[in-house]
Amino acid sequence: MSKTFTREEVARHTSESDLWIIIDTDIYDLSRFVELHPGGVFPLMQVAGKDATDQFYEMHKQDVLLKYKRFKIGTIAGEKPQIHMYQPGELSKVPYAESSFFMGYKSPYYSERHTQFRQAVRKILDELKPQAQEYEATGERPSDEFTQILGKHHLLAANIGPDAVKLLPPGTLLPGGIKVEEYDYFFELVLHEEFARWVSPGTGTGVLGGMTISLPTVVNFAKPHIKAKVVPEVLSGQKRMALAISEPYTGSDVAGIKTTATLSADGSHYIVNGVKKWISTGRFADYFSTAVRTDKGISMLLIERSEGVETKAIHTSYAQSAGTAYVSFENVKVPVENLLGVENQGFKVVLSNFNHERYSMLCGASMAARIIIQDCFKWANQRKVFGKRLIDQPVIRNKLAGMISQMESMHAWLENLTYQMNHMSYNEQSTKLAGPLALCKYQMTRMLHNVADDACQIFGGRAITKTGMGRNIETFQRTYKFSAILGGSEEIMADLGVRQAMKYFPRDARL
Ligand SMILES: Cc1cc2nc3c(=O)[nH]c(=O)nc-3n(C[C@H](O)[C@H](O)[C@H](O)COP(=O)(O)OP(=O)(O)OC[C@H]3O[C@@H](n4cnc5c(N)ncnc54)[C@H](O)[C@@H]3O)c2cc1C
Repeated sequence: MSKTFTREEVARHTSESDLWIIIDTDIYDLSRFVELHPGGVFPLMQVAGKDATDQFYEMHKQDVLLKYKRFKIGTIAGEKPQIHMYQPGELSKVPYAESSFFMGYKSPYYSERHTQFRQAVRKILDELKPQAQEYEATGERPSDEFTQILGKHHLLAANIGPDAVKLLPPGTLLPGGIKVEEYDYFFELVLHEEFARWVSPGTGTGVLGGMTISLPTVVNFAKPHIKAKVVPEVLSGQKRMALAISEPYTGSDVAGIKTTATLSADGSHYIVNGVKKWISTGRFADYFSTAVRTDKGISMLLIERSEGVETKAIHTSYAQSAGTAYVSFENVKVPVENLLGVENQGFKVVLSNFNHERYSMLCGASMAARIIIQDCFKWANQRKVFGKRLIDQPVIRNKLAGMISQMESMHAWLENLTYQMNHMSYNEQSTKLAGPLALCKYQMTRMLHNVADDACQIFGGRAITKTGMGRNIETFQRTYKFSAILGGSEEIMADLGVRQAMKYFPRDARL
């Protein structure tokens, strides 16, 4: 049982060598920490022997209390805590911090099963979060063990969607006791949102990015024996995989790729030569689902890391833990059985993947904004300037109003699209949803732009400081543009959306 003290007792410990403070109702003996305090001795001496709750929360996140819990020596006798300490897996009560169903509103889309899944996943990912953020800070390759924990909980399959989950052994249960056959796109939406809570876009890309956009090409187009080998390896986290389409010469214009695959004289293998640029997870990948030019068009090949395959780091605005790579293929021998789909019809494979890639990005982006808004809401409540909380300033409330309404509007569209995906065959999705998903992505990233801008202004200097209170805001404002470029840039999405709509434009329509 924790020791209890009175406030008067705490007030007697006010020297550098004997320094106690109160945060909420907890008492910390900082005598051994004074010299280590990154902010120096002065701020601690100002609150020595006193209640430092307001001063603490003006400067630090709750994580700091967890990190230094060894200095906690007791609590104030007879007082009840006033501040809620976050517990792993719990849902937030801060308005708009969760989508409406998870805050107690009605929804036609979800059931309690989705809540069970969300909380179970959140608990798992909360435990991994400090490590994910560490990789984000150091740029280190996420370890095999880290990736395999996700595999063990079936979160790698779940990240690819209901079709990949169906490939898990019969009887497999996902977190929260969710059965394989129950897993629909709303569960997938929840899962992407939960991964976004790491606020570690580099690490997320390194562990999940390459795999999520490349494994479906194997699931849907590989020869059965290749699929039987590669799918379990990747879904368990034993092997890593990347999608290699873009090249230094061509990004948006996929048809312009120059990497070649020439059939050998005996027809047993292709010889691949060329270079690929910005390949997510590429530096760590064992397999590359690769777009190549064959004699009469574009084809897709599954290339295993082997002689002639080289990967080099590309330094982007997010962490090196993303494994973003420049990949070169020099006379790489690839067995013909590794052809994905039909020779010269690789475009079909490339296009088949885009809707889901964009969908998964939308889910993560919507939650990324939600987290930032939650941080802003909390910060505006606890930061005092000119003798008032920031939230007491109408201009700050106006910014929050704009952020919340833009984010919630986008989320409502995303849920509508999720519902369509749940009720459409794959072919129907391909024809009917390419345009709306593209337009939703276009507007989602415009929303991210606005949220990043307002969040920076609300956080001030901390928005451009990599650690501490503003860590999430700094990460977000530095990386939100990734979603506006990857998986189809804003301009291309806008154009695709309207061109798709034009296909269904009635010829007889007149103003
Ligand atoms: C960090 C990172 C990770 C990536 N991961 C992968 C990966 O795993 N696999 C992979 O294959 N690729 C990957 N990419 C590549 C990504 O898909 C391309 O960057 C993207 O398609 C845009 O291509 P680009 O950068 O060459 O831009 P470009 O195609 O050169 O376009 C430049 C700009 O012009 C605009 N533009 C282009 N065409 C038009 C037009 N017709 N009308 C109006 N505007 C236009 C674009 O919107 C863009 O803003 C990644 C890129 C990055 C930065």
